Amino acid sequence: MKKLLATLCVLLCAFAMAACGGSETSYPDIPVAFEPDCPIMAALMADAPMRSISDTFHDALNALENGDRVLVFLLDGWGWEKFQHHIDMQPFLSSLNPEPALSVYPPITPVALATVLTGLQPDDHGIHSRADRRMNDGVTDIFAEAATLGRTVAYIQGHSGIIQTSLMPILSPDAGGPYGTDGEIFENARRNLDVDFLFVHFHGIDDMGHTYGPYAEEVGVRIALIDGYIQYLVENWGHGTVIITADHGMRRIDGNPYRLGDHYKFCHEDMIVPYIITQVGGSSNE
Ligand SMILES: [Zn+2]
Ligand SMILES: [Zn+2]
Repeated sequence: MKKLLATLCVLLCAFAMAACGGSETSYPDIPVAFEPDCPIMAALMADAPMRSISDTFHDALNALENGDRVLVFLLDGWGWEKFQHHIDMQPFLSSLNPEPALSVYPPITPVALATVLTGLQPDDHGIHSRADRRMNDGVTDIFAEAATLGRTVAYIQGHSGIIQTSLMPILSPDAGGPYGTDGEIFENARRNLDVDFLFVHFHGIDDMGHTYGPYAEEVGVRIALIDGYIQYLVENWGHGTVIITADHGMRRIDGNPYRLGDHYKFCHEDMIVPYIITQVGGSSNE
């Protein structure tokens, strides 16, 4: 029944929700009704994308089951509008023609990360807030699925694992370079390009967006850096499936000069992110 409710809620989203304001496109803010019995949401979205960030799990598993290698990038806070605004700063990512995809509510990192890793909605994986770290009993993440298939796996994170997963992440604490944890994450990813399934979570786009606002030049510069990192990693991945998406988007906020971007609302900027799936170098099972 819960699954049915969740599905219904998501389907409702697909039909009617208005979006909230972007820096370039202005939509009216709409109130979000939140009912404890249906934590997905009670808001509706017009022209919702066909894709969801939960596709990451299903697309990755499908490729692994077909004997393919899979490389996944999760770009924290890389919203659809942010992508469009800074498109000239990401020649590699834009060349892969992203499609819009729907995040989950609330659009915050642990909730969306759990969905990306399990293919489940929050009501089913059990992560609803930043305080939640442990998924529901019986939930299987993509790392466990890959291990069951006998595939080698590496999971690259920033300074913490964010939520508990079946595989301990390789952490990449900031060693004092100019790019937060992004440089360390890139180095750890580069050292693990020989595995069958590599999951890499970059954080800098979100961090810079919180500080400067999602449409600031500083954010574009960080996206350009990560665009270059991803190009290098993809070109050195050899062959297999590559999936690139985000956990949530971001919108500009006012009132705090030290925090000009945020994400937690059911609105277009927070909820819609890019999604890329592509094949590089021919599949592994050819
Ligand atoms: Zn995030
Ligand atoms: Zn954030």
